[in-house]
Amino acid sequence: MNSLQSYNFKNKKALIRVDFNVPLDKQKKITDDTRIRAALPTILHVIKNGGSAIIMSHLGRPKNGPENDFSLIHLVEHLEKLSSTKVHFSNNCIGDEAKNICQAMKTGEITLLENVRFHSEETKGDKAFAESLSQLGDCFINDAFGTAHRAHSSTTVIAEFFPNDKMFGVLMEGEITSLEKVLNSNQKPLTAIIGGAKVSSKIPIIENLLNKVDHLIIGGGMAYTFIKANGGKIGSSLVEDDFLETALNIQELAIKKNVKIHLPVDTLTADSFSNDANKEETHINDIKKGLMGLDIGNKSEGIFSDVINNSKLILWNGPMGVFEFSNFESGTKSIAHAIKNATKNGAFSLIGGGDSVAAINKFNLADEVSYVSTGGGAMLEYLEGKTLPGIHAILN
Ligand code: AMP
Repeated sequence: MNSLQSYNFKNKKALIRVDFNVPLDKQKKITDDTRIRAALPTILHVIKNGGSAIIMSHLGRPKNGPENDFSLIHLVEHLEKLSSTKVHFSNNCIGDEAKNICQAMKTGEITLLENVRFHSEETKGDKAFAESLSQLGDCFINDAFGTAHRAHSSTTVIAEFFPNDKMFGVLMEGEITSLEKVLNSNQKPLTAIIGGAKVSSKIPIIENLLNKVDHLIIGGGMAYTFIKANGGKIGSSLVEDDFLETALNIQELAIKKNVKIHLPVDTLTADSFSNDANKEETHINDIKKGLMGLDIGNKSEGIFSDVINNSKLILWNGPMGVFEFSNFESGTKSIAHAIKNATKNGAFSLIGGGDSVAAINKFNLADEVSYVSTGGGAMLEYLEGKTLPGIHAILN
């Protein structure tokens, strides 16, 4: 396998698959350019080392071919500004226009190709479409972790056409290194904190993590399914009655695997699902009829924080409560701060999955943890122990 750092880019045209799926407002202005910034180190590396960059990406989910709302043309100006480099644009990602622009592009320049999803072949992983894309460049770099779990033409199939000239970009390398560090290094203790709404969506992750972790902290709405399964009274808290047995099975498996599961011991209840609801802190097994637990309580915050503070590796996915409501954000916030402290004291911490990233950003702590993953679905599948096609295509 090649590495970006050792590959010779001199006079090479590098096809780079990035994730430029950025939000645009009604005027087609970018409202959050995080994803573009995240791909810049790879693009600039190619350019600084004598190559030129041909960028492939999707934007949104176009259904019927080209649509202005999903055109990458809206990103050209900003990419030019961020990279301080001339950016050409091809209105089609394959065909004569793309070929001509890429051929005419000078060393050190960038060509941004139009949305690959304007061709329905992309998401089908069509080989002929991947081959057409591959003809534009001399090597292939996958830097789109956000779509690494998809076997699409531009993320996976294209790699076949570069058996000796394919590699990960800086962002992909960072994601994989961080995930591997947490899941497969032998530093201990390793603590996973899993929260969020539903236990059903996290079962494969929990089952895989039970093979790896020393401590599993369970918070958020999913905790109440466990509490009910153990005989607790949960009022009208979120529950999945079809998964009570699954919860007990998970607990049993944890005992077998020597994993300590930590459930909340108290909860902050509300009399309605609203930020202005009346609050009451109660024992986790004793939630009154009509009340619902929307956050973990004070004691749980303390217990969970102690576990986190004594950990060497930390993985966090999913909030401890309805952190979007300021009156029920305390549990999630205290977990975020405990992770910050543990990181300061030398632990390695990885945060991932949509809502935990939103939470860590809300509390302005993204720079205080070791790594914040950019890939929601891709990270979750990695945590489930699945082989991601986009990664496999580069490694094999
Ligand atoms: P998920 O996408 O499964 O990670 O769930 C994230 C969502 O779970 C967030 O929007 C939270 O507001 C929500 N959530 C967390 N704790 C609770 C709870 N106790 N009751 C209801 N929703 C919750």
